[in-house]
Amino acid sequence: MEKLQLPSVFISADIEGCATLVHWDEVMPGPSAAYARARRIMTGEVNAATRGALAAGARDVVVNDAHSSMRNLVGQDLEPRARLVSGRVKPLYMLEGIESDGPELAFFIGYHGAIGDRDAVMGHTYSPRVIFECRLNGLAVGELTINAALAAHFGVPVALVSGDATTLGEAERNIPWALRVQTKVSMSYFAAQCRSPQAVCDALQEAAADAVRSHERMRCFELARPIVLEIDTMTTSQAGAIGRAAGFARTATRTVSFTSSDMAEVYNALVTLIAVGAAA
Ligand SMILES: [Zn+2]
Repeated sequence: MEKLQLPSVFISADIEGCATLVHWDEVMPGPSAAYARARRIMTGEVNAATRGALAAGARDVVVNDAHSSMRNLVGQDLEPRARLVSGRVKPLYMLEGIESDGPELAFFIGYHGAIGDRDAVMGHTYSPRVIFECRLNGLAVGELTINAALAAHFGVPVALVSGDATTLGEAERNIPWALRVQTKVSMSYFAAQCRSPQAVCDALQEAAADAVRSHERMRCFELARPIVLEIDTMTTSQAGAIGRAAGFARTATRTVSFTSSDMAEVYNALVTLIAVGAAA
């Protein structure tokens, strides 16, 4: 008889989508009191999701700090039963750790809208210096959808997403099985109507437990093959430099593309083009 296995959970934690945070001044690492407050809020939301998952019987929780320097989560306040992937550079970037521990579910906490989303506080897609728009198979996507496709490559469904209303809209369109926790409703790039951090933590704890209990109905976000990644760059010089890199084609003045049937290869191409674009 097969043993009943409760899932282990992988959390990818970003910060722009966390409760009450609306400005880059708050979320960029530095000595400010605003950033110190922001990282406590982020840590609280990750801990709430961790506690909910463990309360519902999850075997294990691994948290990957996925924002900027990737050293935002306050280590000494981390829920003691979680393990933390901290720091950069990491090959799988926002999903580092998902391949090595064999998790069965992924949670995306503190996620944000894509660049080009009309009402999304701090909306961007990976690099606002390089990426004007990102498309997968012709569909404009944000980090949420890119990362859901990469999680699917490792056989891991996304079961829970938290962020502003725009982010949850992207989740509803592309990964409708995932539970959603709203942290705020963006009114512009720098303003939102926010729920309190405590209310968000309470909702996250409950939703994380629900996600673990209902893990059998979660699905992977599979893209049709081959996968075509297209990036509209901010500048022509970026498109020129990326278009000369192996495997890329420059398909328009400010557009580059990369095609593969392997989503890990596509993701690697994305990380590479960001580095090349930033240097161009
Ligand atoms: Zn971020």
